[in-house]
Amino acid sequence: MSFTLAIVGRPNVGKSTLFNRLVGRRLALVDDQPGVTRDLREGEAKLGDLKFTVIDSAGLEEATDDSLQGRMRRLTEHAVEMADVCLFLVDARAGVTPTDEVFAEILRKKNANVILAANKAEGNAADAGVIDAWGLGLGEPIRLSAEHGEGLNDLYEHLRPLSDAFKERAARETPETDVDLPEDEDFDAPRVPTFEKPLQIAIVGRPNAGKSTLINKFLGEERLLTGPEAGITRDAISVRMEWSGVPMRIFDTAGMRKKAKVQEKLEKLSVSDGLRAVKFAEVVVVLLDVSIPFEQQDLRIADLAEREGRAVVIAVNKWDAEDDKSNKARELRENFERLLPQLRGAPLVTVSAKTGKNLDKLQEAVLKAHEVWNRRVPTAKLNMWLAGMVEAHPPPAPGGRRIKLRYMTQAKTRPPGFVVMCSFPDKLPDSYKRYLVNGLREDFDMPGTPIRLTFRGQS
Ligand code: GDP
Ligand code: GDP
Repeated sequence: MSFTLAIVGRPNVGKSTLFNRLVGRRLALVDDQPGVTRDLREGEAKLGDLKFTVIDSAGLEEATDDSLQGRMRRLTEHAVEMADVCLFLVDARAGVTPTDEVFAEILRKKNANVILAANKAEGNAADAGVIDAWGLGLGEPIRLSAEHGEGLNDLYEHLRPLSDAFKERAARETPETDVDLPEDEDFDAPRVPTFEKPLQIAIVGRPNAGKSTLINKFLGEERLLTGPEAGITRDAISVRMEWSGVPMRIFDTAGMRKKAKVQEKLEKLSVSDGLRAVKFAEVVVVLLDVSIPFEQQDLRIADLAEREGRAVVIAVNKWDAEDDKSNKARELRENFERLLPQLRGAPLVTVSAKTGKNLDKLQEAVLKAHEVWNRRVPTAKLNMWLAGMVEAHPPPAPGGRRIKLRYMTQAKTRPPGFVVMCSFPDKLPDSYKRYLVNGLREDFDMPGTPIRLTFRGQS
């Protein structure tokens, strides 16, 4: 149990720079042009011995109509609501601007718990701006330099009492029940409920596949910005939410975007952010656009997810716009099996992020894939199954000596991994291994998860 800090302030004051410094991973993008950081993003921050969640908010500009700025302002207010405390940044070099004043007013109205900081305060040039910041009526500003890492001690001193207060509150409330299943120890341990922690999903896909629309639909509120311009969600962000009562954390990645307009620097960061989202995730939803399904980029990310051992669900979006649904459905199936044989059995769901159609089916598929990804098959059942498989189709006898499959057990979960003890494991042909993997998948109903099977020699 720890607290959540939102970093708020107008564009270009250094929010992303500070976010990056606190989170220590390059989850947010930084750039000189204002407004690059358009979405809320969350990260786990460390400052000394303090651990907390930090939200990097979108900036505020004065426009309030239906412009991007208006939407950014609403997002910022949302960040304030989500946070326990707001760190309000102003630019000590620029001094206090009218936009900063508007911002201070919002924070006062929202009754936010505010820590004021004057950023870019390294060196003497910032003195006037720091004094200026007193005038906002929010107390003494912390002198901060996000870029040079100065003033973090002061920030720590402000956050410390807060952290203590949260710890005390948590101790008074019921203690957390976080059960960790010991890996590899007890093969037949009963399954623990898997939803004590939020289920981590990544939504990946080409630009304009509809990722932001989909996430917004889940959230039921305008939290991400969507629009026809590709590249608006430029990096990986995560949001916590409940999807029909199941707590989840969604990673949205723009990482797979290829767009000439996007500068080299942004693009590079974005790709690695996309890959990172896959690494964070338990279930990866590969979102395809029905008008251009299974493009090279889609195949690459799906393959990556499989190799990383993630559960995978394929969702074909914009189904509302498809005229010839029955032929298209058949074609999709065929292409899926031909182009992604390594994901055999993974669920394929047609959806419309726009209308919300079939999102319940998508959720079912995600939950099922997650359940299977975590599943443990009892050893006794596995060995009965193995005996049946061998009887139906015995392994070959290279050089006249039959390969004996003696014993099988599940060694790990997430994804499921099995070990088969056998004689001459090196001689077992790949076709026989596939026969076993496919059999496992079908007989134990394990769609949407990679299955690892290893063979060990036993004298
Ligand atoms: P945001 O739009 O508020 O998130 O601001 P960014 O984090 O993108 O920073 C905007 C610009 O200010 C970038 O060019 C940063 O390198 C620069 N910047 C951030 N922090 C500091 C600082 O402490 N000192 C100075 N001199 N520049 C900074
Ligand atoms: P992202 O780049 O993957 O985040 O895609 P966006 O969510 O920004 O969507 C790109 C475009 O596709 C927008 O114009 C959306 O309105 C549109 N779109 C998204 N989902 C659907 C859908 O289910 N049906 C239709 N017809 N259009 C959609």
